[in-house]
Amino acid sequence: MSEEIQKLKQLLSFPKEIAIITHRNPDGDAMGSSLGLGGYLHKLGHNIKVIFPSEYPLSYGYMKNVDKVIIFDLDHNVARKAIENADIIFCLDFNGLDRVDKLGENIQFSKAKKVLIDHHLDPEPFTDIEFSDTGASSTCELVFKVIDQLGDKAMIDPEIGECLFTGLVTDTGSFRYGTRPYTYVVAGELKMLGVDDYKLADKIFNSQKEKHLRLLGHCLANRMEIMKDYGVGIMWLTRKDYTDFDIQRGDTEGIVNYMLMMENIKVAAFVTEQPSIIKISLRSKGDISVQEIAGKYFNGGGHKNASGGGVYASLNDIIEKVKKVMPLYLPKLIT
Ligand code: 5GP
Ligand code: MN
Repeated sequence: MSEEIQKLKQLLSFPKEIAIITHRNPDGDAMGSSLGLGGYLHKLGHNIKVIFPSEYPLSYGYMKNVDKVIIFDLDHNVARKAIENADIIFCLDFNGLDRVDKLGENIQFSKAKKVLIDHHLDPEPFTDIEFSDTGASSTCELVFKVIDQLGDKAMIDPEIGECLFTGLVTDTGSFRYGTRPYTYVVAGELKMLGVDDYKLADKIFNSQKEKHLRLLGHCLANRMEIMKDYGVGIMWLTRKDYTDFDIQRGDTEGIVNYMLMMENIKVAAFVTEQPSIIKISLRSKGDISVQEIAGKYFNGGGHKNASGGGVYASLNDIIEKVKKVMPLYLPKLIT
């Protein structure tokens, strides 16, 4: 048993107040890891509060206990109290306190023991016990590993398993990237524990509303520009688009990936005009590190092939900046 697992086992040896928090704009992995771990710790007899900084995509509404999640944006005081009262705070699927907005301060100054479970590069040292593995497909994969190493694999029931399997599927684009052999071991184990992966895939991928497809059509037809010479695709959404298409949080998830379906496109950038900030999502194929680009030019970070950032500027400025920066990272293609 590793030293970190021993420390964690000790911490969990009698009932505690536990807060589990994940990053703003939670995705399938953030939600699945938080709710999966929460389900397991609840079974151990702990009192669990799961906190999301902002609202979640409704397509993940099938996860057990998602209706009990405290959303900081909607319930500042309840979320702060949950952090204040916690004996243990689990920080899942993020690597720095700036990813959880103002709650970062509450976490920083809390006396609780802090445990990180994460697969992002360069974790900041803000926790007491760290399970950081950048080779993992997903935080869900790591949560499975931690539960297994604690000797409790058998406590993973189909509902907890479904949460964890969600992160495996969504963070790997349905097992198309980011995997390692162990990822498939975990998928196999979860299936043996009763997860119905076909039904789950149906819940994850066939839950779109008409407006989602219309928005996708709008992006592809009217909001896409290709830098042919460099293999870069750029897409954007204006504030007016947000109103016209009734875009809610999570509604744009995944759209950036469509540009990578073109064979010569190596990098895709999706720029959106939020109420006070311009948000950028970057995706790449192969060796090009969008993490470096996000960090250097867009005040962000993430993974080598999937990163994001946010900048106070105009939408046009950021689109122009993307056009200036990309040629620095991509050789000009001979066309
Ligand atoms: P997305 O483009 O889906 O919002 O995010 C892709 C990846 O980039 C995620 O793994 C996320 O952790 C990271 N990311 C997104 N936005 C930010 C940001 O503003 N700052 C940092 N550091 N990482 C981000
Ligand atoms: Mn993740």
